Amino acid sequence: MTTSTVDTPEDFEFNDAFRLSLEEVEQGRRIRACLQCAACSGICPFGFLMDFPPHKMISAMRAGMFERVMGMDSLWLCVSCYACAQVCPAQIPLTEGLMTRAKEEMVLAGNIPVELQDALENSQRYGNALGEPPRRRADWAAGLEPAVPILGKIKRSVDVLWFVGDYASFHPRGRQASQALATVLNRLGVDYGILGPEENSDGDSQRLAGERGLFEMLAEKNGRVFEKYEFQEILTTDPHAFNALKNEYPALGISYPVRHYSQFLATHLEQLQTMLGGAISARVAFHDPCYLGRANGIYDEPRQLLAAVPGLELVEMLHTRETSICCGGGGGGMWLDGFRWEKARFRLSEVRVQEALAVGADILAVTCPYEMPRFEDAAKTVEGAEHLVVKDIAELLADALVEAEVSS
Ligand code: SF4
Ligand code: SF4
Repeated sequence: MTTSTVDTPEDFEFNDAFRLSLEEVEQGRRIRACLQCAACSGICPFGFLMDFPPHKMISAMRAGMFERVMGMDSLWLCVSCYACAQVCPAQIPLTEGLMTRAKEEMVLAGNIPVELQDALENSQRYGNALGEPPRRRADWAAGLEPAVPILGKIKRSVDVLWFVGDYASFHPRGRQASQALATVLNRLGVDYGILGPEENSDGDSQRLAGERGLFEMLAEKNGRVFEKYEFQEILTTDPHAFNALKNEYPALGISYPVRHYSQFLATHLEQLQTMLGGAISARVAFHDPCYLGRANGIYDEPRQLLAAVPGLELVEMLHTRETSICCGGGGGGMWLDGFRWEKARFRLSEVRVQEALAVGADILAVTCPYEMPRFEDAAKTVEGAEHLVVKDIAELLADALVEAEVSS
């Protein structure tokens, strides 16, 4: 989106500590440029339920009443989806500059839902928000042939360090998608290795949920592990990990070339097309994840991969590409489902499943491990969605490879 910038007036008085903390950073200072047009709150998927959606939050700041914002817990409805930042005509980085900073204040004040607190404590103690034992990180790969190389065991350099991530390592559906991606990488002959028990959470969702200190601790742990090994680039399963490694880790001195797996596989499209023989006859809708799409501008590569699968017909949902709606898992949303249900009595994942049904999709394709369990749960509660299959793109590619083998 192209917009003109607005000069920042110097005479606003945001007379509270929060204003002072915002003023420390350029993105915070831009909040002075707000026009009070309310586009941010209008586009926000939870704006109609927040006591202080973005434009009202800024208004409260101007009125010196920010403590009222801090006294409300509806800020935790924010899923850090970047929709507000994208439409803001004053180009204010609302997701990072306002909402995340406000969440940091809420965390400091102890105004934090219990289930989020549990996830943050798990992240600190176990290196993952699910509270799983770190030694089980590579269990998803047990028994696969050929074996998934673990860098600490193979003791050699590789081309690609595959940063698998929490949900793709521990969640049952994420583990299946990881096995599928391993199949695809093996068939392409990629020289890769994983960190296994040495990997920690990327920390990005913890950062966006207001725990920057925890994010930095996790990032530094990962950074120290990266230094132990030789590799050319990092491949991530999870768009949140991709965002962290690309946009946040470099400020901590942890800087490596990084690609999301959809970008990586798209550069192997010609090779893939020669191997994807068997047809999967279905209509497929792709859900653009916030941290691949709006946050990082990656829209085409997942669609190129889907278009390469013989028999798949790609259909677009009402909200697609830049206008995609969050699955509800961002910004700590994975750990706030109970709180959100109490507050809102509706789920964004169900909206998305309804949109997939409206365009006649048989398959809802995803590229983020947060999304599979969310959409699969939603498909159980949305009327008429019983037939809707939720698949990671890596799973669809692996299925097409198997189909090709069977038909050859
Ligand atoms: S969209 Fe931007 S300019 Fe408009 S009210 Fe929101 S923050 Fe202010
Ligand atoms: S980041 Fe998304 S959920 Fe949060 S305030 Fe902006 S539009 Fe709303």
